[in-house]
Amino acid sequence: MTLRRREWLKTLAGASVGALGLPLIDRAHAQTTKRVEPPLALKDYQPKSMLHVPETHVPRSRFPNIDFHTHLTGVDRKGKSDVLTHAATVEEVLRVMDAKNIRIMVNLTGGYGPLLEEALRHWQQPHPDRFIVFTEPWYAKITMPNYAKFQGEQIEAAKRAGARGLKILKTLGLYLRENVTTGPLVKIDDKRFDQMWEAAGALDMSVAIHVSDPEAFFLPTDRFNERYEELSAHPDWSFHGRDYPSNAELQEARNRVMQRHPRTKFVALHTADSENLPYVSECLDRYPNMYVDIAARIGELGRQPRMSRKFFDKYQDRILFATDATPHGDETPQQIFGNELYEIYYRFLETEDEYFDYAPAPIPPQGRWRIYGIGLPEQILKKVYYENAARLLGL
Ligand SMILES: [Zn+2]
Repeated sequence: MTLRRREWLKTLAGASVGALGLPLIDRAHAQTTKRVEPPLALKDYQPKSMLHVPETHVPRSRFPNIDFHTHLTGVDRKGKSDVLTHAATVEEVLRVMDAKNIRIMVNLTGGYGPLLEEALRHWQQPHPDRFIVFTEPWYAKITMPNYAKFQGEQIEAAKRAGARGLKILKTLGLYLRENVTTGPLVKIDDKRFDQMWEAAGALDMSVAIHVSDPEAFFLPTDRFNERYEELSAHPDWSFHGRDYPSNAELQEARNRVMQRHPRTKFVALHTADSENLPYVSECLDRYPNMYVDIAARIGELGRQPRMSRKFFDKYQDRILFATDATPHGDETPQQIFGNELYEIYYRFLETEDEYFDYAPAPIPPQGRWRIYGIGLPEQILKKVYYENAARLLGL
């Protein structure tokens, strides 16, 4: 036995607890690590996984897909008027679509009135087999006394112009107020939108509706908040306090709309309430006109892979492939349109890989965790990638 080993054993056997109450061996350790640098800032911490697990590269989806949720255009306010902005060139988008096996992209934020016409002219008309454009409500007109009728008629006009569906941003419920930007918040189930929901149903335009946001956005941005870093970087994303309704109130208001308009098909975007799949399942059971997409929520679905897998099994006819892709979006890495984004989605849906990043970013942007693939079988993949969306879009 070497001297060193004997000394070491003596330490263990002799006096195992020192004067500080710490085992001597720990005290020795504490002394060697005492003179450490200032603590590492959380934002600089980028741990690399040491797991030796299979890494599957999925460059193309196993079947052609429809990305049901993208933002190729958006409405911006310039001075007093709204303008339509294009996030990328058509050629640039088509190149990624061809490489990644994306048959069709649905551009949800196509605007309204003349802006919608421009979005259609730019994307859908030259490439009707590749791009589909949805319209949006003309919220600035909410102060008009006959807004309900006006908005219903706008949907009919949008359909005539070529729009294939209606997009509702979380603006409704969280930003839109009685005087547009001031006054009380307008509720999701406000009667002034009834004619709009009815028109969409009558014209076979599905409604892509985003209500609420991640549950953590409704809680204080403190040390218990699982999305602390994201909310610290974007304090305006927090809906905690002020006059904001709770996540549950927003979800229930949407449910009342679906109940009141059974002929209208609603796609609850971002898996409706992706942290609470038992609740989403209840909603899907209760409202046969409800569907969901998975856009920007594989971070949530992928950290509960067993529950997600059962969810996909049970609702395989009502879940749509979607990413929320936004070309050149820089604030939300989980949405940046490009090859990398699609490969992560395909890996999540098609493989059983373990513990991988849900976004192309050095730090997981929606919470510090990683995800697991759910390895869907081919017949479910076909439905989720293409068939479910094709049915809703009337293809
Ligand atoms: Zn979106």
